[in-house]
Amino acid sequence: MHSLHSDGSMRVEDLVARVAKREVRLMALTDHDNTAGIAVAALEAARHEIDFIPGVEVSSEWNGIGIHIVGLGIDIENQELQAGLDKIMEFRDWRAAEIGRLLESAGISGAESGARQLAGSRMVGRTHFARWLQDSGHCHDNGEAFQRWLGRGQVAYVPSDWIPMAEAVSWIRQAGGVAVVAHPGRYKLSATRLRALFEEFRAAGGGAVEVSSGAQGAADREHLSKLAQQLGLAASLGSDFHGPEIGHAEIGQLAPLPEGVQPVWECLGHSTPIATH
Ligand code: AMP
Ligand code: MN
Repeated sequence: MHSLHSDGSMRVEDLVARVAKREVRLMALTDHDNTAGIAVAALEAARHEIDFIPGVEVSSEWNGIGIHIVGLGIDIENQELQAGLDKIMEFRDWRAAEIGRLLESAGISGAESGARQLAGSRMVGRTHFARWLQDSGHCHDNGEAFQRWLGRGQVAYVPSDWIPMAEAVSWIRQAGGVAVVAHPGRYKLSATRLRALFEEFRAAGGGAVEVSSGAQGAADREHLSKLAQQLGLAASLGSDFHGPEIGHAEIGQLAPLPEGVQPVWECLGHSTPIATH
């Protein structure tokens, strides 16, 4: 799940309260490229008797494609991980100014400060720009913002210099975590390319793939669970919740993992996440 510390819309305290209300017993906070919300999330989760996994979602790249690698069970004090995340946050900061400049050239002014304000001086991402473009009446929805300006090849697209996927995996491992390929169905890869991605990920020390995610169709579930089993990777499940008004998935709504896969929370020493009544 995501909070205001990246592109989610909820304060960590409110997010954890919502998890409790939805009767989810195990949660991971996985904000993009920073761990600023983890300490509070851990405290709040304990208060609500929710089992908590500290996490992060690292922006990386594989063969020119942006791939998100979730780290679960990380030690947030780890120096290698934090130095790496700092580097990404600096890049994001620089990129926000670039996107602002490109939008300015396209006749749209005030986008950078608008997006930064929405981001609340935390991680600035393209989704903040998309939200600002909608709020200021430049487009109707998130999809249109990406189609017209922010998406690859569009006027305000800044070629992104993300770190290689293997490096993200390495930071997560050094911090004692399990690396997970986030929402593999969203990268629109052929079956062959997806397998190649997973094989390289596993060779780099990756441990699991997200078999069930709010950010991808349910149709991907069976294919991904078979692939995970064939390659000896564990399976993860997550809503990718960003806020009640953002995107698709509600907390604790996904079907359980298919039979036969190894749930990633077992690798981390946790038991089943969903209340069974
Ligand atoms: P960033 O990490 O700041 O480059 O933003 C990446 C995020 O933008 C992704 O996690 C998606 O939520 C969103 N995104 C990327 N491409 C698109 C697209 N074509 N249409 C809608 N949302 C997109
Ligand atoms: Mn993601």
